[in-house]
Amino acid sequence: MTEHGPWDECPTGLVTKMAGQLRAKQLRARLRPMMAAVAILLVLGGTWAVQSKIGDGAEPLTCVETVPMLADYHSGNLEGSVATRVDEHLANCPSCRKHFEDQFPGEARIVEDADKLVALRARSVLLAAR
Ligand SMILES: [Zn+2]
Repeated sequence: MTEHGPWDECPTGLVTKMAGQLRAKQLRARLRPMMAAVAILLVLGGTWAVQSKIGDGAEPLTCVETVPMLADYHSGNLEGSVATRVDEHLANCPSCRKHFEDQFPGEARIVEDADKLVALRARSVLLAAR
């Protein structure tokens, strides 16, 4: 009997190798739901981080939105949460700070720190109320 059928003898080590591959496959299958859970947590965590950074889920103001509000911002006519968003934008946007300077010369100092900017707004509101 020289004909080789499907029941040839396996090369040495083949069964061991297949068993190893099967174990690795089972391990991956077991880890897969865990990996999915980790991925979901990462996505949720990222979303949460972005939202908490923005605050109240509000989008950061763009320059186009901010510039028309500078007069109301200066006179304290903006709703508190909107004024805060303008604060945040001005703290991060030299271009809009320049607009503020141009509209209200001498009333705004160039400040890098958002806390100082809030204080500046409070001062200008007090001045406007006089
Ligand atoms: Zn801007």
